[in-house]
This record gives sequence, structure tokens and C-alpha cells, in this order.
Amino acid sequence: MDKFVYLFNEGHSGMKELLGGKGANLAEMTKIGLPVPFGFTISTEACNAYYESGKTLPSGLIDQILESLNQLENNTGKSFGNPANPLLVSVRSGSVFSMPGMMDTILNLGLNDETVAGIAGLTKNPRFAYDSYRRFIQMFSDVVLDVDVFFFEQLLEETRESKGYSSDPEMSADDWQEVIEGYKAIVKKHTKKDFPQDPKQQLFLAIDAVFNSWNNQRAIVYRRLNKIPDHLGTAVNIQSMVFGNMGDDSGTGVAFTRDPSTGEQTLYGEYLINAQGEDVVAGIRTPLPIRTLSTEMPEVFQQFSDTCHRLEQHYKDMQDIEFTVERGKLFILQTRTGKRTAQAAIRIAVEMVNEGIIDKKEALLRVDPDQLNQLLHRRIDDSFERKQLAKGLPASPGAATGQVVFDADEAEMLTGEGKKVILVRPETTPDDIHGIIAAQAVVTSRGGMTSHAAVVARGMGKACICGCETLKIDLRGGKFSVGDIVVNYGDIITIDGATGEIMLGEIPMIEPELSDEFQVLLQWADEERDLGVRANADNPEDARKAFEFGAGGIGLCRTEHMFMDANRIPIVQSMILAETYEERNEALELLLPMQQGDFEGIFEAMQGHPVTIRLLDPPLHEFLPDKEELLVEVTKLQITNPQSAKLKEKELLLKKVRQLDEFNPMLGHRGCRLGMIHPEIYFMQAKAIFYAAAKLSERGFEVKPEIMIPLVGHVNELRDMRKLVVDAAKLVKEETGRDVYYTIGTMIEIPRAALTADQIAAEADFFSFGTNDLTQTTFGFSRDDAEGKFLQTYIEEKVLPDNPFAVLDQEGVGKLVEMGVELGRKTKPELKTGICGEHGGEKSSIDFCYQTGLDYVSCSPYRVPLARLAAAQATIRHGNKKAKDTFISIK
Ligand code: PEP
Ligand code: MG
Repeated sequence: MDKFVYLFNEGHSGMKELLGGKGANLAEMTKIGLPVPFGFTISTEACNAYYESGKTLPSGLIDQILESLNQLENNTGKSFGNPANPLLVSVRSGSVFSMPGMMDTILNLGLNDETVAGIAGLTKNPRFAYDSYRRFIQMFSDVVLDVDVFFFEQLLEETRESKGYSSDPEMSADDWQEVIEGYKAIVKKHTKKDFPQDPKQQLFLAIDAVFNSWNNQRAIVYRRLNKIPDHLGTAVNIQSMVFGNMGDDSGTGVAFTRDPSTGEQTLYGEYLINAQGEDVVAGIRTPLPIRTLSTEMPEVFQQFSDTCHRLEQHYKDMQDIEFTVERGKLFILQTRTGKRTAQAAIRIAVEMVNEGIIDKKEALLRVDPDQLNQLLHRRIDDSFERKQLAKGLPASPGAATGQVVFDADEAEMLTGEGKKVILVRPETTPDDIHGIIAAQAVVTSRGGMTSHAAVVARGMGKACICGCETLKIDLRGGKFSVGDIVVNYGDIITIDGATGEIMLGEIPMIEPELSDEFQVLLQWADEERDLGVRANADNPEDARKAFEFGAGGIGLCRTEHMFMDANRIPIVQSMILAETYEERNEALELLLPMQQGDFEGIFEAMQGHPVTIRLLDPPLHEFLPDKEELLVEVTKLQITNPQSAKLKEKELLLKKVRQLDEFNPMLGHRGCRLGMIHPEIYFMQAKAIFYAAAKLSERGFEVKPEIMIPLVGHVNELRDMRKLVVDAAKLVKEETGRDVYYTIGTMIEIPRAALTADQIAAEADFFSFGTNDLTQTTFGFSRDDAEGKFLQTYIEEKVLPDNPFAVLDQEGVGKLVEMGVELGRKTKPELKTGICGEHGGEKSSIDFCYQTGLDYVSCSPYRVPLARLAAAQATIRHGNKKAKDTFISIK
């Protein structure tokens, strides 16, 4: 005879296929000695036998169920249908894979006209007893007898109305009894039979219903969608009900084994004496903190603490527990891994290592790298209920509150007066930089995740929202509107850069806190990881921040940001406008010491770690005023002051702007193409790097400059640019007498570069994959246009799984990265490879980079801790690979 039924003390967690996930879990909890309400599981094989015998319960199965029921009665001291001490059970389906909503749980099976009176007496709460009975009839009739809930709900509503009540809690025990009579009439009318009063009959009907639910339409569709085989079958769990409302020696509550918001090792939760779960949720009575249970029921509390300890030792993680005390006896109804804040996740992981519950590797895998990000930025208090005014792109995380201003000068001035402001602009330009520095946060109504505002704000670790198109900004009127709501200059708003939400008024914030445990976890990550983590930083301040966060070098210093400084832009413009070689050189000579100063600061901040400096990348027109605005100015001057020198100057500027104008700047005259046509610009930059390196080495610092050429598509471009850099190095060496160690490499950000990486490697000491441009050029998307226009729809409609500018497209762009590494190393086995696109700070992309054999990832300073943890996780998951980049750890 096959065994179809297993008491909870006969199974364990390894029996999922036979007992279903829930059944195996209940058996495991029973096995480790937890006080779980007793019960039994009818196996998935029984479900299959049920179908094989033409949807009837095989006789052997019926006997086994009756025998197990007997044991359950003995174990609980209660019995089916006995009004003095009735056994009530819950009936749940439970397959191997969780199939949400397959069949609703039936609670309180065993209630009938007699046992309900028993429960009324035992709980001294007839209202509760009759309410439970009417719920049972409603649920059972819906799930088992196939009577639509609509009829029950309609009757309940009519009864409530006729009595002048507005909600269920106003119903008395007598009222519920009246409803029950009505419910029974509904059942009789629709099934032509009385509602079953025999608990055993109720049970067998419910078991049939669970088995039938395996093949209902909902379940079949769900299985097909999730590729779950049809032959698995479902188990049925029958578990005794316990009641926390059987007097002052009973109660119910929820608790975490550790504080889920701080991670502190202390029981955290609350309970109510003489109450059921619904009472806790309903919030009518105020629950007591769990620690008072130690005085009210000391023995139960001791047992509860011991149980929590045992649970943690067994599941090796913080647990979220539901419990009930029935007449002095503790029952654990449910335990699951508890949700926690980022701060708690870190503390719990580290402390569990110290307590010997898990090892360091496990601790590192326990914390989601994305959670670290939250901790580095100020954020909105989770307990606050947000009311969103508008939503844009989450361009830079962090939260901020301030008065709305629409102008960078205004932002600077008000900040100088001690006010907090948020700069709101259609978009920002290099001219607004002082306003961005002064403001708490930046909001733009146009532009994508790589717009000027987004890039600058991220670099500064400042909150920013971009492309918030519902914001109608009226710069002249000093206001913006969203629908009917108008926000004026000076009004207070709060923004959340991590979600892109804008809210009215001030909202409570939580300050960032880097705990000791945070540092310890990252230290462990550094011990474990075999992938370098560098930072993208363009100035000494960002470099210092990056170093503080544990970056092992700079992977990308974008030199164009140094040109965008308000004091320098006029010189840059005169360099661009120069008519002759001499004029251009004059401007470049002025820029050289400025760049040199920047590089000295960065080298110093990085204390001997490598610094990759990329020569100028953007098209030159980005440093000139906007064409449309200039045209307006010129037209105005032509009317008001046609003879002025100013008009001549502006006309000249407009002519140059028109000359430099491009149909498609992303694919235009930028990157190394600038160096090829204007070698003097790159030559000046290379000299500035070497002068800075020579100066620092003279001061006793170690320096490791790595000069990087952007947007190379053909090896000849790199060959020419390499020669130019080598010449600059020679010249500086001759002048200073200092021999500086340096390398020359290239970005791989054009598909052709990846496809011909074997040729390109001959001229490169390193490759850095620029996956921002590589994604643009592989997909043929312009990022700003894509994110602003169609990408969101693509993601919502699952045309693409993710935004490929945030999460590396491994199948397409990733293939080019793999090819680039492989071909490059074929020519030059010692070739160093890294990534400096934004994907370098995204966990799944970091995992991919590690598997592809890159030596390092580089990301914005604020993402460095995240990247250190993700790199460690990749190493743990895939084993040690001996990457070649150096890295350091936070002291
Ligand atoms: C890239 O293209 O990935 C890159 C890092 O360069 P940028 O974003 O400056 O174009
Ligand atoms: Mg690029």
C-alpha cells in the first residue's frame, strides 16, 4: 500500500516533491522542535492517484486520512465535532513550486451549528465565534461548493444597511447568527443541499477541491507561463487551528528575531493578550512591545526566546515570526526570512559572522549591493507617506528639500544667505555650474540620464532629477506648474533623486550613516574580491572622495569637465575661435597650467594609484553658446545697435557656431577625431599631464598616469595619437629631466574597435570599454533621444528587459566586450582591460565584467562601495581569476 499521508513529524525540508513547498517547510519546522500547530500533509502522489482513479479518492487514501486525523485529535486533545473542545483545521494547497492564488486557504473547517457554540463558550466571545462561522461558510461555499461570493456579500450588505451600520465591527453576535441563517439558505438554493454539518464530510470535500484546483484554468495558465510541469500535482496541508483569544493566558503577535531597522540583536515585535491575528492588524487595540511578555508570561517568553534562537541557528538568518499562545501554550504559525533596511542587513550579516552562524563569504552574499547606495545618501524617512507631484528620471540618488529657484546666480546668492535651494531649469549648461554647486539638488524638465545636469550632479553626489516633462517651467513668470498645481519661486519642494519623485513641502529625512559594520563588510569584500574597483573622477575633490570610498585608482578622468569651469570657458572659446595657429597656441598656453594644476591635485589625492586621463572627447561646439540663443541676441543687436562692436563679436561667434554645427554630434567630430584634426589640443593636454607628473615626482610622490584616447575606431587613429603623446612625454622629460612612468591606452566604445581589437592592441597598453558609447553605437540609439522618447515604452512592453544604458546588454554589447578582450589579449596577453561606462557601477554588469576577464571596473565615487561588494560577490560566485589591476582597502 502506497503511503499518501505524512504527519508533520514524519517529513523534512528535502521532501518538497512529495509534500510540496509548504508541507516540507512545516515538517522541517516540526522536526527541529518548533512548536508548530500539529497536522498532516497529503502528498502530491495522492493528487496524481486521485486523477488516475477518475477524480475519486482511492480507498487506501481515505483510510490514511482518517488515521492521521485520529493522531491529530490525540496530539491536540481536541476532536472533530466535539462542542466541548472542538478541533478546527485549516486546509491549504501546496505544490512543489509556489503557485500564488491557486486556491484560497480554508480556515476553521470543523465549525458547524454545534461547535460554533463551543468556540463561543471557550473564547467567551460569541461575536467572534459566529463571525468566524459565517466567514467559514462563505469561504467554503465559494472554494468547495462553487457558490459565487457575490450572493453572500450582497446579503451581508443588505443586513448591514437594514440595521443602519456602516461597517462589520458594528455587527453583534445575534446579527451574525441572522446572517448565518441567510448564508445557509443561499447554499441550499444554489446547491440544492444543506450546508454540510459533518466535519469529516467538510474535510473530504475540501480535499477534493484542492485536488481539483490543480487543474483549474488559473493554475493551468500559471503553469504554462512559468514552465511548471503538469504532472507534479499538489499536496494538501491540514493543520490544526489555534486561538489566541481564549482568555488572559492566550494571545497573538508578530516578531523579528533582530531589529529589522537597525539590525540590533534583540527581539523586536508586539503582541496582544486575548486576541486573534485580525485584532493586531485591525489596530483597534494597541499591541504591547514583545519585551513586556517577559513579565506577563515569563515561561512563554523564555520558550519564545529559545525558539527564536533555534530558528536563527537553523535558518541562519533573521526571521520574521507569527505566533499565538493558546491557553499558555506557544505556537509558531509562520516563520520566514525577515525584510530589513540596508543598515540592518549589513549589521546582521557582520554580527552573524562574529557569532559563528555564517561565514564571511555568506555575509558578503547576504547584502544587496544596491542597498549600499541608500546608505551613502540622505534619504526620505520610509515611514513618511509620500504624495508625488511629478516624476522624472532618477538621475542622481539622494533626497533634498529647498526653495525653488530658476536661475544659477539666484541659487548661489540665496545659498550665500544661508538658504537651501533647489535649482529648477529646463536644462543646465556649463554656465550654470556655480548654481549646481550651490543648490541642494537640481531638477530639469528636459534631458536624459547623461545630460549635463545628470553627469555633473552624479559626480558631486548631489540629488538630481532630469527629463521631468510634466513640469511646465515659466522662467519669466518665476514659476512652474504640473497640471493645475502652480509652484512659485521660493516655494519649498522635496525631491528624491533615487526614484525621480518631486513632492511639495518639507519631508522628514534620514542622514547617511557609515557604520563600523559597513567598513568591516567592505574590508571583507576587498579581501575576497579579485576585480579592481576604480572611480570616474574629474577633479581633486571627487578623487579624494573616491579614495575615501576605497577606489584603487581613477579609471576615467574626463578632461572636458575641466574646460567647462566658468573662468576657463572664455579661454576655451578663444581657442576654438582662433583664426591662426599662433592664436590657438596662445589660448592653449593659458589653459595648460590650469589643466596641469588639476592633474597635480588628482595625482596627489590618489597617492600613487593609477590615474587614467582621457583626452578631450566632446565636439567643440559644446563649449560655445547655444545657436538659437545667439541668433536671438544677434537679431536684437541688429535692430537696437547695428554698429556696435558687440554685434561684430556675436556675429563672428555665430559664424563659428554654424561652422561647427553638426547633424549628429554623437557620431560627429569628437573623440580622437578632434586630436587628429587639431593635434595641438591633445599635445597641450599630454604636456600638462607630464608636467604635473614630473612636478609631483619631484615632490616625492609616486605617479602612474595612464593616457587614454577616446572613440578610436581604426588602429591608425591610435597609432598617430600614441606618437603625439610619446612626443609630449619626451619633450617634458627633456625639459624637466624627470622620467615618468606612463602607459597609453584607448577606449573601446565603437563596434569597429571591438571587432579589430587585435590590431588596436598592438598600439595600446590598456583597453577601457566605454559602454555608454558602445551601447549607443551598437543599438544605434542616441541615449538622450531614446530615454526621452521610446525606451520607457520598450521596457514597459518588455521589448527590452532593462534600460541598456543602466544594465549592460550582455547578449549584444557584452558580446563586443568579450570579443574585444579576447582579440586584444591574443595580440598582447598582458593587456590590461577595464570598463568605465556607467555599467561599471551596476551589479549584474560587474558580474559580467568579472566573468569576461576584465581587470577592473570604474564607476562614480559614490558607487565605489557598491562595486567593491558586487566584485566580491562575483569572485565568490565564479571563483578566483587573478585580475591584474591593483586595489586598496579602506583603513
Ligand atoms: C563611455 O562612452 O562609456 C564613456 C565612459 O565615455 P562618455 O560617457 O564620456 O562618452
Ligand atoms: Mg564615450
